[in-house]
Amino acid sequence: MRRVVLVLLTLGVVLTIGIPAGGYQDTPLKPNGYHVHDEFEPRPPEVTPGEKDHLPPSDAIVLFDGTSLDGWEHTNRKPDAPKWRIVDGALEVVDKAGTLQTKQKFGSMQLHIEWRTPSVVKGNGQGRANSGVFLMSTYEIQVLDSYNNDTYPDGQAASVYGQKKPDVNASRGPGQWQTYDIIFHRPIFKGPGQNEVLKPGTVTVIHNGVLVQDHWEIKGVTDHRRLASYRYHPDEMPIQLQDHGNPVQFRNIWVRPLKD
Ligand code: MG
Repeated sequence: MRRVVLVLLTLGVVLTIGIPAGGYQDTPLKPNGYHVHDEFEPRPPEVTPGEKDHLPPSDAIVLFDGTSLDGWEHTNRKPDAPKWRIVDGALEVVDKAGTLQTKQKFGSMQLHIEWRTPSVVKGNGQGRANSGVFLMSTYEIQVLDSYNNDTYPDGQAASVYGQKKPDVNASRGPGQWQTYDIIFHRPIFKGPGQNEVLKPGTVTVIHNGVLVQDHWEIKGVTDHRRLASYRYHPDEMPIQLQDHGNPVQFRNIWVRPLKD
């Protein structure tokens, strides 16, 4: 037994010593043009994670850090200062102030956003703490109090509005902060001004750490009471937050643009 252990140990040492320090050049080529374990394959860029997972990493564009709305404007009253309120570091929807959008435009992206619905519950169904995150001003990931609040599933929290219910309901209760981590790849249109897509957009949504939309193919503009279809838009568009008349709050919003 001891001899077997010794042989294995020796073998391990020999194998370890036999591996070139940086990798291999005598292994098969992968589709990306580098060898398996190729020492010359470019290293991925380093990114310092936030101290906690939900905090922005070093390469994120911070859209709202609790202090300023400089990066935001209303769609209906540019260039006036936004009318939504900052309350204790949270951005709160103000009824009838209108949609809020980023001044900066984005296409494919990783988006982190936190939101909470009022602790005092008012209304039912779609009327209870409705808002929404509109990717490219066009594709709504629903924000709603979906904790003990029944509504049509393709309109509950974390749905792709009118198209796809979340795989599970991972909602927290009223007044509690919730997170969306969204991975979105924009649709690729056939050509300028053409509504036909070469490649539909896709969306992955992680709600409170739970995967609820898994690389789902978006069917087009998220619409009310209609089947979705695509309408041409530019490659980059603002991210919008919906004013649906309810004082929903948002915080810690950051984005990392992605390759298409
Ligand atoms: Mg909504």
